[in-house]
Amino acid sequence: KNLSKHFVVERSFWGKPTKILKAVNNVSLNIDEGETLGLVGESGCGKSTTGRTIMGLYKPTSGEVIFNGENISKQNKMHKDIQMIFQDPYASLNPRMTVADIIGEPLEIHHLYSSLNEKNRRIHELLSLVGLSREQANRFPHEFSGGQRQRIGIARALACEPKLIICDEPISALDVSIQAQVINLLEELQQYLGLTYLFIAHDLAMVRYISQKVAVMYLGRIVEMATTEDLYENPLHPYTKALLSAIPIPDPKIEKTKQRIQLKGELPNPLNPPTGCPFNTRCPYAKDICKKENPELKNINGRYIACHLFE
Ligand code: SF4
Ligand code: MG
Repeated sequence: KNLSKHFVVERSFWGKPTKILKAVNNVSLNIDEGETLGLVGESGCGKSTTGRTIMGLYKPTSGEVIFNGENISKQNKMHKDIQMIFQDPYASLNPRMTVADIIGEPLEIHHLYSSLNEKNRRIHELLSLVGLSREQANRFPHEFSGGQRQRIGIARALACEPKLIICDEPISALDVSIQAQVINLLEELQQYLGLTYLFIAHDLAMVRYISQKVAVMYLGRIVEMATTEDLYENPLHPYTKALLSAIPIPDPKIEKTKQRIQLKGELPNPLNPPTGCPFNTRCPYAKDICKKENPELKNINGRYIACHLFE
């Protein structure tokens, strides 16, 4: 709720902040239990920072993270019910630890077993949940393929029996042929364990497939949020339209009738964002007011949109 995360990237000699990166600005999201919320946007728009702030890896500059009715953003520890799957399965696994040690670490941190036997049984259970065998428990990450390493990362995330998993581009570092397998695994696990996902991605086709609701981010702000069907069938925000225009459509009939918007220009420097609507430097519909006032995210007939065209 109204979550912001700002980083000081430069200070004066006297310690006064001189450059601040407003990575996440006043972001409000709502994820229902058992649901997948897709969070999309170009790289550098603040998706990962949002996920990490919800997870407790960063302390919010302002705003709250409310989990099961409890404000957890003031706590100084990470919540065991919220776990994360990272983008890069190569970098996120310690090369000197065996798979059993990697998956067993969260069990240890949270004291989730009473005997070594129980710990091993749990590790084997987790391995089979993600489609790996117990014989693989004593191997090291380098002995596995990219897809298998991501399975290890998923098993580690599941160790504490979390409720919410933040998936930060979990497949974008994998071969295309492996991506669908990992997505199917995530879906099966969601069904089987009743998990809730925040699914961060820039692959819009994948997000459409896996999410029930989608939020679109631009320069640290949510510009539109809607059910997946509404968002993809009828995008309202000019930035969402532009993002969706970039997906190739195999059917030529649809291609002709669809309103295509080309994104002009570069993503502005997030250290020096435009005044007014952050999208005004690239928006084909920008009006005078767009350069002066930043539109707030408003509920318009059940859809959330931040754009002066809809006021
Ligand atoms: Fe475009 Fe203005 Fe809407 Fe921003 S507020 S998206 S600049 S029309
Ligand atoms: Mg990222």
